[in-house]
Amino acid sequence: MRHVAIIGSGPAGYYSAEALQKALGDEVRIDIVDRMPVPYGLIRFGVAPDHQSIKAVYRRYEKVALSDNVRFVGNVLVGRDISIPELIELYDAVILATGAPHDRPLDIPGGDLPGVIGSAAFVGWYNGHPEFADLAPPLDVSAAAVIGNGNVALDVARILSKTPAEFAGSDIVGHAFSALGDSAIRDIHVLGRRGPHQIAMTPKELGELGHLESAVPKVDPADFPPEMDDALLEPGQRKSVTHLRGFAALDAAKTKTIHFDFFAMPLRIEGEGRVERIVVEKTALDAKGAAAGTGETYEIPCGMVITCIGYQTPPIEGVPYEESRGRFANSEGVIGDGLYCVGWARRGPTGTIGTNRPDGYEVADKIAADFGGTGGRKDGRTGLDRLLESRNVDIVTFRDWQRIEAAEAARAREGSPREKFILIEEMLGARR
Ligand code: NAP
Repeated sequence: MRHVAIIGSGPAGYYSAEALQKALGDEVRIDIVDRMPVPYGLIRFGVAPDHQSIKAVYRRYEKVALSDNVRFVGNVLVGRDISIPELIELYDAVILATGAPHDRPLDIPGGDLPGVIGSAAFVGWYNGHPEFADLAPPLDVSAAAVIGNGNVALDVARILSKTPAEFAGSDIVGHAFSALGDSAIRDIHVLGRRGPHQIAMTPKELGELGHLESAVPKVDPADFPPEMDDALLEPGQRKSVTHLRGFAALDAAKTKTIHFDFFAMPLRIEGEGRVERIVVEKTALDAKGAAAGTGETYEIPCGMVITCIGYQTPPIEGVPYEESRGRFANSEGVIGDGLYCVGWARRGPTGTIGTNRPDGYEVADKIAADFGGTGGRKDGRTGLDRLLESRNVDIVTFRDWQRIEAAEAARAREGSPREKFILIEEMLGARR
């Protein structure tokens, strides 16, 4: 029998478990360890609450979770409750699937003013992440700037724009639902340091902005290259640019406006004790397609800035880390003897949920090959249980999670699939 520990119960973690089951069948026992008492990582805390069809992928992970040789071990923080060397001692293989839950910092003057919020915090707040329950974003202001031209910037702009009725069917948490319902924000500036052809937004998600009840997207036609250049784009990007051209042609006024400010590089954020404006420099693309400052600057009055410029994997003591890319140092998923990584912890924060699947399968094949034909001699889960019990760690099982899940469904607002518990103690209490 072989024992594998997967650290992190998000998509990368569950795809790896699924792949290991396929590669090793009954010859493997898999423990999926998570610092949260609830599973699914990014699906619960990252994917937008109004994108339930994307979140539904958890049903596939649930099937894996319910199989006999897979166990969920929640409420266990690696680095506090157990160390990586201890895990390597107990398991034949340890896979880090810890995602990239930390914001890449925006290093500009004023970046630490109250009212500047990283997307991990803002997204965590509306998705009920315990660490961000007290965020209290300043929604009493009339304008916000969202920095970045990726899908997270789109999520944030859309969530800031929606009416309460448009959250029907979502699982946005109660505190965010009511705060956003009272929001005074009317202008949302989405700042891209490059142009429409360089956006990192996908067409389906971008298209949604064209169908909002009280908000309209606004794009300056002067920001586009000649239309014939669109033919040079790959098909997905061409579709996205077609949406943007459609937005530029719109002549609708609604109560809220989502302004696409292209070629706008944030220079500094200013204000007396809180954000009052962001100063940006107009850019042009250089020969390599990078944003180059033109020297021309302008100000955007705003009371909140949300940075959506990418994420980082938090380092773990003793595990080699690649600072510049915000991920573990690895060679095709291998960190060292018995230690592997998958998903955003391996590649950095790129790609969709499905991109993590081949990662999991690749690493499972590597692990199966590394094991060779012989059986293992590690203690696996019995050793883990013994150690955690001796440290009084209150672990959460998948059965416990199912009770928490049922309690969340039972207290849902009408039309919503669940009202998440926010605090760890609430989650732990709901097991009984
Ligand atoms: P992303 O796709 O990498 O986009 C980051 C954006 O930030 C880029 O537009 C980048 O511009 C910009 N940026 C980076 N540093 C900057 C700086 N210093 N100043 C100004 N702008 C800066 O990252 P993301 O939006 O966080 O998304 C992460 C991943 O999750 C992506 O793969 C995304 O597709 C995925 N995701 C998918 C969905 C969905 O499918 N519904 C939803 C959310 C997230 P440059 O291009 O100029 O570097």
